[in-house]
Amino acid sequence: MNPKPLQGVVDNDLLDATWFYEVADSFAVMNPATGEDFAWVPDASAADASVAVAAAAAEFPRWSGLAARERAKVLFRWADLLLEHRADLGALLSYEQGKPVAEAIGEIEYSASYVQWFAEEATRLYGDTIPAPASSKRIFVTKQAVGVVTVITPWNFPMAMLARKAVAALAAGCTLVAKPAQETPLSAFALHRLAVRAGLSAAAFAVVAGTASAAIGEVLTQHQAVAKFSFTGSTRVGRLLAAQCASTVKRVSLELGGNAPFIVFADADIEAALDGLMLAKFRNAGQTCVCANRVLVDAAIADEFTERLAARVSALRVGPAFTDDGSADDVQIGPLIHERAATGLRELLSRAVADGARLVGAEAVQGDGAWLHPCVVADVRNDSELAQSELFGPVAPVIRFRNEAEALTLANATEYGLAAYLYSRDIGRCLRVAEGLQFGMVGINDGAISNAAAPFGGMKQSGYGREGSKYGLDDYVETKYLSIGGI
Ligand code: NAD
Repeated sequence: MNPKPLQGVVDNDLLDATWFYEVADSFAVMNPATGEDFAWVPDASAADASVAVAAAAAEFPRWSGLAARERAKVLFRWADLLLEHRADLGALLSYEQGKPVAEAIGEIEYSASYVQWFAEEATRLYGDTIPAPASSKRIFVTKQAVGVVTVITPWNFPMAMLARKAVAALAAGCTLVAKPAQETPLSAFALHRLAVRAGLSAAAFAVVAGTASAAIGEVLTQHQAVAKFSFTGSTRVGRLLAAQCASTVKRVSLELGGNAPFIVFADADIEAALDGLMLAKFRNAGQTCVCANRVLVDAAIADEFTERLAARVSALRVGPAFTDDGSADDVQIGPLIHERAATGLRELLSRAVADGARLVGAEAVQGDGAWLHPCVVADVRNDSELAQSELFGPVAPVIRFRNEAEALTLANATEYGLAAYLYSRDIGRCLRVAEGLQFGMVGINDGAISNAAAPFGGMKQSGYGREGSKYGLDDYVETKYLSIGGI
């Protein structure tokens, strides 16, 4: 790897993407803010992925055989190393993904919080005893690691999406092979390097990055030695990969796309709702699966709310994460991941305007290349292309509703079911609406819902399985029961 701009900024060892196999070719990593390639990493093939799976299978008996406390010690060291390196890991992440440095450092801390959480959970993998149907019998229930796990992760949170899968698998006693998104392999390699430095063997957690996504994906979803596959990414790709897993009957977890409604009732604390919306909509330039995708506002306050939202949006500082001299800049919105994403959104916005929607604020559709100025769109219909698409960008469509029942109907009118938000001062309304929302996570007067203690995951076309919390280990363990007779 040759990441010149980062030399001297990032610990050199973390930039070393080689592991236990030798890879002939390499591929480039681009900085989305400049469009320049700045690093080259080994381009793994499907054969390399098979080697990694075989190595993970060979390592499984040793890692799963350790006492839970021994595994936890390694994981705690890993969390400490992540926190020690939060500044250079943040720079690395920001360079390959484009988000502001403060947000990137926040992602490292968020990742470390999952590593700490599962280091603790590793020691609490309890079983059960069950009253037996005969006095001469006993029934014990145990939890055992499922075996080798494979994971594929997206580019939008390249450290966190991988860390929370990897650490849950490792805490349960599994070994794993991970394929990060081609756009953002550096954070995955750095995470791997720190795991090895913390005491994990390289085979227990391997990273296979490559341009041959489909071929690598076939190995990770179809290899006989793999017990479980966990995916975070788009619904389209998730469906395909889940189907590939069917032939070998693998366990599957899918964290897929979202289309979160952000409902603001007329009785809400408007200032708090705006604070929550700015967080839920514009973090990572709107490239977040739990991102507010549709802002549903009571018609009685819609005009005032839209104006106040537009004023806040036009004040956002947009720009590259680093200044020309290489120091971190105090920006709030970076570029989108690539030009293709921004062009797609610009075209979607043009079609929405032609369809009767209204851009609020003069600078609404601006930006070249991967840059798109954040904007608010009023007079949007819930059944329009704009409202039904997962936007994945800094675009806030505002949709009006007349009453609570209509708000709930509109909110649920999407194929997705990941996150939803609602703002109201009426506790009864909050609970009624939250119970009616067909989403795996609901923020009530809260725009920042994700943390290691809570179960993260979706319903409907947003997938199944939960990450984080006490439920997060369930996907990585078998429930086995022992029936003991002759007592
Ligand atoms: P994507 O589905 O295009 O890619 C995700 C991963 O799958 C990448 O590593 C990619 O290389 C790989 N991939 C793509 N095609 C493949 C194939 N045929 N075989 C094997 N691997 C393949 O998604 P993306 O654009 O990287 O990420 C954005 C999407 O991820 C959004 O839909 C977002 O909502 C979703 N996401 C969901 C969550 C969640 O927790 N639910 C979290 C973050 C992102």
